[in-house]
Amino acid sequence: LVIENIKQANDDGADLLSHAKVVGFEYENNKIVAVKVEDLLSGETFTVKSHVVINTTGPWSDTIRQLDGSDEKPAQMRPTKGVHFVVDKSKLTVSQPIYFDTGEQDGRMVFVLPRENKTYFGTTDTDYTGDFEHPTVTQEDVDYLLRVVNHRFPNANLSINDIEASWAGLRPLIDSNNASDYNGGDAGRLSERTFDELVTLFDDYSQNKVERSAVEDKLQDLGSNTSERGDGSPSSVSRGSDLSVSDSGLFTLAGGKITDYRKMAKGAMEKVIPAVTDLTGKNYDLVQSSTYPVSGGQFDPNSYETAMEKFANVGVARGLTYGQSLKLAKLYGSNMNRVVAYLPVAKEYAAKYDYPVDIAVSLIYALEEEGVYTPLDFFARRTTLMLFQHDKMLEVKDAVSQTIIDHFGLDQATADQQNKTLDEEIAKAELQYLK
Ligand SMILES: Cc1cc2nc3c(=O)[nH]c(=O)nc-3n(C[C@H](O)[C@H](O)[C@H](O)COP(=O)(O)OP(=O)(O)OC[C@H]3O[C@@H](n4cnc5c(N)ncnc54)[C@H](O)[C@@H]3O)c2cc1C
Repeated sequence: LVIENIKQANDDGADLLSHAKVVGFEYENNKIVAVKVEDLLSGETFTVKSHVVINTTGPWSDTIRQLDGSDEKPAQMRPTKGVHFVVDKSKLTVSQPIYFDTGEQDGRMVFVLPRENKTYFGTTDTDYTGDFEHPTVTQEDVDYLLRVVNHRFPNANLSINDIEASWAGLRPLIDSNNASDYNGGDAGRLSERTFDELVTLFDDYSQNKVERSAVEDKLQDLGSNTSERGDGSPSSVSRGSDLSVSDSGLFTLAGGKITDYRKMAKGAMEKVIPAVTDLTGKNYDLVQSSTYPVSGGQFDPNSYETAMEKFANVGVARGLTYGQSLKLAKLYGSNMNRVVAYLPVAKEYAAKYDYPVDIAVSLIYALEEEGVYTPLDFFARRTTLMLFQHDKMLEVKDAVSQTIIDHFGLDQATADQQNKTLDEEIAKAELQYLK
């Protein structure tokens, strides 16, 4: 979702940088006029001039505010760590996402979700003060989630050895509120009655008893009454998020949830546009965010299956099997034409390094159009291979690495470093240090 948003921004004219770290600011008359950036691949630093800078670094928001230093405000983030585990579907089967009380009297819910041929479950929610770049799964996390899930599914009898992949992340929570992943905090919690009404409405809709508009109206109603409510002030762009501006003009948009991202972005843009207009005299219109598709989303969402079939046939016409092509169609949507355009070169690499052409074409597209530079970018941040097709990733990782070396003409030292980083992340995902 994040990558497709970024790609759409690029199609709309944005310039993008990856593996680039903001390390400082430049000022004129005590106002920020540029950011200093370190290229994490080459180690070089350079500056990017800007009328307005928005700090949207999630858990790192305070770090960037400290780099600015124009305000003496205390830290506002209180990140918590959450982990998820992936097991084979044969070990734990659910036909649809479910969630349930942990049974640990901690007021938390745990989710179990089917995905591809795997099932994943999570999450934990513990205060975090360690290294932000490398939050890791601990033995306590494993014990907690296995206890909760085995209690709910006694026949599963899961042990740490069943965990094929895992990940840990930080929630950018704001100290002053209780936002949770799913409902935006206690203040926005749905009542049992509203929840039941919603379930009934969804059922009715799936059986064609009510129109789609009835569901949309209900959701809109909820949005303006519960967790999504904002009162229009900068500090309540969306429940659980916070927008502030420092004396030097640095905007910081933090907190919230990914579900709220369009609402948060809209709230921020409503403040940022006047600031840019003041400086440049130019005016800008907001896009209609609720109907503006992300990259790959140029199709009618009400005819999803038909659209996927159509996109899959684009690959079949270029020699892919229907199965391979449908998988790609579901990942790339209306970008399928752009993806299959790389088939001739993908076929060469697939033959040269003996790996499936659908993975090769995904890779070449990612190298050309998704800013991928390392195998880790590809496996962990552009595809689901690291988490949900772990075995497949292990089979193709050398071939992928070789393709990247050839594509960019990398020297041996760079390639070795990329492979070392990948192997470390694989060991982490597999929880090798706990097994
Ligand atoms: C386990 C877990 C489960 C969750 N479940 C849900 C859910 O079900 N629903 C939901 O809505 N939300 C959920 N969330 C929350 C959601 O993931 C976050 O709210 C969202 O990712 C925040 O986005 P962000 O862009 O603000 O921060 P991030 O996604 O953390 O992105 C911040 C970015 O800033 C970059 N950065 C940091 N410092 C610098 C610097 N100096 N220069 C340049 N870049 C920098 C980082 O590399 C990173 O890419 C969950 C989070 C976790 C951890």
